[in-house]
Order: sequence, then structure tokens, then C-alpha cells
Amino acid sequence: MVALSITFCRQLARARREKGMTQSALAEAVGCKQSAVSMFEAGRVEKLSRETVKKIASLLEVPWPQSADPQDTAPGPLPRGFCPNAFCPSNVPYAVNGELYFWPRRQPEADGTRCACCGEILETRCPACGAPVSAGACCTRCGAPRIANPLPPETDPEAWAARRRTAIAQWLTLTRHEPPPGDLPAEAFENPIHGLTTRSGR
Ligand SMILES: [Zn+2]
Ligand SMILES: [Zn+2]
Repeated sequence: MVALSITFCRQLARARREKGMTQSALAEAVGCKQSAVSMFEAGRVEKLSRETVKKIASLLEVPWPQSADPQDTAPGPLPRGFCPNAFCPSNVPYAVNGELYFWPRRQPEADGTRCACCGEILETRCPACGAPVSAGACCTRCGAPRIANPLPPETDPEAWAARRRTAIAQWLTLTRHEPPPGDLPAEAFENPIHGLTTRSGR
């Protein structure tokens, strides 16, 4: 196993900033300490386990370096679509200055038209300006969030996002990779507002 390069650490740090994520939000999503993320981004590769770095790379949609793990298969191509369902585990929520954003995870190939997690039809264009989808929580052309805040105004976005990220992180730990949709626990689809499951299209 070859050590990860500092270039890769910087690449992950840049991807995180481009997505507007804080180190603490990222740390929480993958289940490690913010200080470890900070030191890792500064080039201290030994501060995070290989498993954690893989989770980060997958969440930030940064391809795993070929040279680091020759036995690994190359990651799939970048997303062609995102799931518009705010309560789908493929969308990781986080709050910045009281605003709620969703960070769509890369969709595994599947048939490319429906979300591999919840079955919703994938969006391939920005709902606001129609620009083709790119990675990240907001449109790179017009800056509009991909998924609007679906919560009632009295909900604290910070607390809700934190709870939700914990649930999603646990789900990721349990499944490690994108599982067949039938293996997802029902809680992963729980809609906290209506108390309904929102699995659709199946
Ligand atoms: Zn979905
Ligand atoms: Zn746009």
C-alpha cells in the first residue's frame, strides 16, 4: 500500500471548500474529529485512517488516486444527475449561517435516470437557470441551491442537519458502498415532517 500524497490531501481540501463545507461538517459526516481533518488537509496523511479518507473522497467526489491502492477499481464517472428528494440519504444536509443546503452524493451509474437510493427521477439541470448539473450543493452558474429547504420555518436547520448527517453517516458505515436499494433500512427514508416514508418510483 502506497502512502497518500500531499497533493491528494490538497485536492480533497479544495473539493471540500468548493462544496462550501466546513471541516467540522465533513468530520461529522464521516465520523472523525475536525482537528484530524484539519491536520490531514495540511498534509499529515497519518491523521486519518485509510477507510475514513476513502469515505471523504467518495463524499467529495474526488477520484481515488490510482497509484495509492492498485487493487482498487477506479471510481465511477462524476454525476450526471442529482436526486431532488431532500429526504433521500443521497443528499447530505448541512447548515451555513442558518441556511440549509443539501450536498448531493455521486449517483452510482445504475440506469442513470433514477436515484439509486430512493428511486426518484434524477435532475440533470439546475432548477433555477437550467445549467447542466455539476458536483456541489449549489449551481456553479447561478449559485442557486440544488435542493430548496423543505423544513417548516420554525425548524432549526443546524440541529436538523446534524441529526440527519449522523443518521446518514451511520447508514454509510453500515453499508460502506452504495448498496442495492432493497437493503436500505426504512429509517433512511423517513420524512421528518410528514412522518412518511418517501421512497418512490418503485
Ligand atoms: Zn434519492
Ligand atoms: Zn443555476
